[in-house]
Amino acid sequence: MENTDTDKRPLDFIRQIITDDLNSGKHKQSITRFPPEPNGFLHIGHAKSICLNFGVAGEFNGICHLRFDDTNPSKEDVTYVESIQKDVKWLGFDWGEQIFFASDYFDKLYDFAVQLIESGHAFVCQLTPEQMREYRGTLTEPGKESPYRNRSVQENLALFQRMKNGDFPEGSHVLRAKIDMGSPNLNMRDPVIYRILKAHHHRTGDKWQIYPMYDYTHCLSDMLEGITHSLCTLEFQDHRPLYDWVLDTLKTPCHPKQIEFARLNLTYTVMSKRKLLQMVEGNYVDGWDDPRMLTISGLRRRGYTPASIRNFCKTIGIGKSDSRISMGVLENEIRNDLNVKAERRMCVLDPVKVIIDNFPDDRIEEVTGKNHPQDPDRGERSLPFTKELFIERDDFMEDPPKKYHRLGPGREVRLRYGYLIQYASHVKDEQTGEILEIHCTYDPESKGGTAPDGRKVKGTIHWVSAVKGVPVTVNMYDRLFKVEDPEEDKDIDFLEQLNPQSRIVLTQAIAEPALVLLQPGESVQFERQGYFCLDPVQPKKDNKFVFNRTVTLRDSWEKTS
Ligand code: ATP
Ligand code: MG
Repeated sequence: MENTDTDKRPLDFIRQIITDDLNSGKHKQSITRFPPEPNGFLHIGHAKSICLNFGVAGEFNGICHLRFDDTNPSKEDVTYVESIQKDVKWLGFDWGEQIFFASDYFDKLYDFAVQLIESGHAFVCQLTPEQMREYRGTLTEPGKESPYRNRSVQENLALFQRMKNGDFPEGSHVLRAKIDMGSPNLNMRDPVIYRILKAHHHRTGDKWQIYPMYDYTHCLSDMLEGITHSLCTLEFQDHRPLYDWVLDTLKTPCHPKQIEFARLNLTYTVMSKRKLLQMVEGNYVDGWDDPRMLTISGLRRRGYTPASIRNFCKTIGIGKSDSRISMGVLENEIRNDLNVKAERRMCVLDPVKVIIDNFPDDRIEEVTGKNHPQDPDRGERSLPFTKELFIERDDFMEDPPKKYHRLGPGREVRLRYGYLIQYASHVKDEQTGEILEIHCTYDPESKGGTAPDGRKVKGTIHWVSAVKGVPVTVNMYDRLFKVEDPEEDKDIDFLEQLNPQSRIVLTQAIAEPALVLLQPGESVQFERQGYFCLDPVQPKKDNKFVFNRTVTLRDSWEKTS
């Protein structure tokens, strides 16, 4: 079997193992799975796992299952099931008919537990949670065997049945695997495999009063689906002996291979769903799809494209040691993608008025601008040029240094696609020092931005007609946390590390009229400012279009200072 990926890099260790297993005939086809727990929205870390599991299926002509690991009804919900499906699809992957729920296996899992009891490999334990902890031992001390460990098979079967029937309160009884309390691996010290939970399940309703634990459920679900390679993150390495123990002890017909890889961590963010939920519930952000969140839905709303996320996952690769990837790597991918895809437009974020004294009062002159400077096929749009315009406040200085090539006393500057304008005077609020308006004259012979006499004008700035421009709201997003690793200092609550400047809402911004033609979610480059998208969820608020900044520009199209 060949790797059909056009990428010429050597295979990562997982793809190598799969290649070997296919070449040796161990498996005819690879079957992988992406197994989210529906207890939150997917984040960029999940994207790494999705791109790996579905990617492998695509490259090796294999199959990838989507399986909901829904064994903890107290934290799970159908809205999460739905959002997960939407996000996986949006990322560009398709599970076809292969959608599964661990809860569909509850009957089988129960039968397997009965088998374990019958073969003397599981027992019902009545230690309290505190006693359980005490008996468990530590990394340096072995655990102690539960006094309930040697109950008869009959007694265990009867008690397990009664647990199932709901005869006992939560926390009073558990079913434990009988393995080894002296094992150096804590996961092997008679782990709990079933607990009583009187919770309504979003799929099985009130049928079950007991629910299987993750480690027990996962290996059996993999086995039942005939998974060949069960790919998970490194923290499950210590669980692998238990994964294998369950399958070996039950002598199951197939035995998937668990392989661990490094999870994704990114700078300036947290990844765990529990923490993301805390931010959502505490209203630190505006929901799971807040554009500052590194959830798939947040990234989508921020203007990230599926291709940019897939490329990011390809760039970082699959390895065996945990690391923290710089946010710059992710930003680079969206820049590369939008540089090609996004049309260029002009939008003034922090406007100051320019009045062109020698321009006719009511004239609206159409000038044209390229939609994409490197791609003439993308065509042009027209821009209304009028006597009163807006430019960025910081494109004017009263007392500019020599190297400042924008507007100031005595300076001439090019208005992108418009005319050359020459400073005349400016008006300022003497109290506050705020510049109120700048008067200029234009060179009527310089349409399009070139001087008829060939004189050099270095600076080029963007502008929008004051009468024809469209007021817009712009959300300027920045990193969500102030520090690279918000979880590093265990004495500081990660919520205290939130960046108070992570969103600045600009309410005075004004955009060229062509921007009203965008579709919700569509991306543009605001020239010299960055990439933005029309908010896909709420494109208009208070009758104004809302734009989200996706990412800043690395370079502006022309050096202006
Ligand atoms: P979290 O800790 O964020 O809640 P999780 O591991 O509990 O994540 P699951 O829904 O159980 O979330 O994860 C589904 C799959 O995604 C698992 O196989 C898991 O290993 C993988 N995954 C989760 N987080 C990451 C990550 N940061 N990098 C790579 N894979 C991840
Ligand atoms: Mg988990």
